[in-house]
Amino acid sequence: MLKRASVASLFFSALLAGQEPATPMPQGLDPELWQRALKLHHECVVVDTHTDTTGRILDEGFDMGPRAKDGHMDLPRIRQGGLDVAFYSIYVASRFYGDEQALFRKDPGDDDWARPQDAGAANGSARRALAMIDGLVRTADRYPDQMAVCDSIASIRATLAQGKHAACMGIEGGHAIEGQLALLRMFHLLGVRYMTLTHTNHNEYADSCADSVPRWGGLNTLGQKVVKEMNRLGMMVDVSHVSDRTFFDALAVTRAPVICSHSSLRAICEHPRNVTDDMLRAIAKNGGVVMINYNCGFVDAEYGKRSSQVSQTKRIQEREARRKFPDGSEDLAQALKKLDERFPAPERPTMATLMQHILRAIEIAGPDHVGLGSDFDGVPCVPEGIDDVTLLPRITYELLKAGQSEETVRKVLGQNLLRVFERVEQVARDLAAEPAWQNDPKTDSAPIAR
Ligand SMILES: [Zn+2]
Repeated sequence: MLKRASVASLFFSALLAGQEPATPMPQGLDPELWQRALKLHHECVVVDTHTDTTGRILDEGFDMGPRAKDGHMDLPRIRQGGLDVAFYSIYVASRFYGDEQALFRKDPGDDDWARPQDAGAANGSARRALAMIDGLVRTADRYPDQMAVCDSIASIRATLAQGKHAACMGIEGGHAIEGQLALLRMFHLLGVRYMTLTHTNHNEYADSCADSVPRWGGLNTLGQKVVKEMNRLGMMVDVSHVSDRTFFDALAVTRAPVICSHSSLRAICEHPRNVTDDMLRAIAKNGGVVMINYNCGFVDAEYGKRSSQVSQTKRIQEREARRKFPDGSEDLAQALKKLDERFPAPERPTMATLMQHILRAIEIAGPDHVGLGSDFDGVPCVPEGIDDVTLLPRITYELLKAGQSEETVRKVLGQNLLRVFERVEQVARDLAAEPAWQNDPKTDSAPIAR
């Protein structure tokens, strides 16, 4: 078995640097420290466990090849920002999950909660996940000299050694497996290496944090089997998006370290999507890692309040305008422009607020249990100063400025996640002789012993 420290020595320094001009220094920074940060940043293996560029690829036909004017990521900007490894979200929105009455309680005016008309008739979750995987694979096939889809520490190592970007896959929304352990195994076979047990909906086996009325009160019997099967297969169990009870149920049953692929801190921003200090300590004890999310609404509670007030009113008026004027008409364009002027986006949180999350997580969980999970291309707002992936060195700069050691910087930027991934692979090897877990319709919904 490889020793902990060996992960670092396995990797060549980030060869991606140098192919693009360095990120220009943002205004007001110390030039000497910026140079030191840039050098260290590009030497480190930088990992981001949550980016939603896959959604753009699939739904907008987005091409990662050229430098884009919008969004947060593309291949040139990934190189400039020194992002070596990214987990692309195989995101399945809750609307693809159609067989739960409980879900229909939500406001039908919110697009994210749009449901198939006939509950139970349409569950396109697995198909949607497959389409997402296909989108990423096609992108990698198109740019084989710049990126490769990776599914192991070994393949990441080989890809980085060739100076390419390593694109890994993680499912967002445990309903993607449609309650079937067989589908979980098929996704593993396709290279998916983590799965959030839920998204914003409860599913067949786990409760989400987004619905305050519990369905199972955490995991049910099938949920425990999902976690154990992920351990056996070598998939990281991701406890971002789950309810607090689900979180602790998953930690109680897992035999490998878990991750929060994109969650920030509740002590700084009160939001059920964020982790409490107790959760941070539990993850540290488990050997796992919390990857800090940049989403403005999860970083700054005040921003969340301001933007939800604005967006509700704006959304209603926007819907009215769309009803009144035909699609693509000049009248509609004018009406939407006026709405943008009347409801300007609220002021964004700053880099300092984001750093509070990262530094507090280091303080509470320890430097071995913190990383970065941006949510780039998945959220409408990121803090000022980290506007896109090219500005990742800013985090390195701020960590150094806060007095963190270079060793801690290396861990937070990537080594912690790689250590967890490597450990998860080892646990899978240890469990290789165990039989696969199977569905049992008679007992899957049964409550678990607590
Ligand atoms: Zn998410």
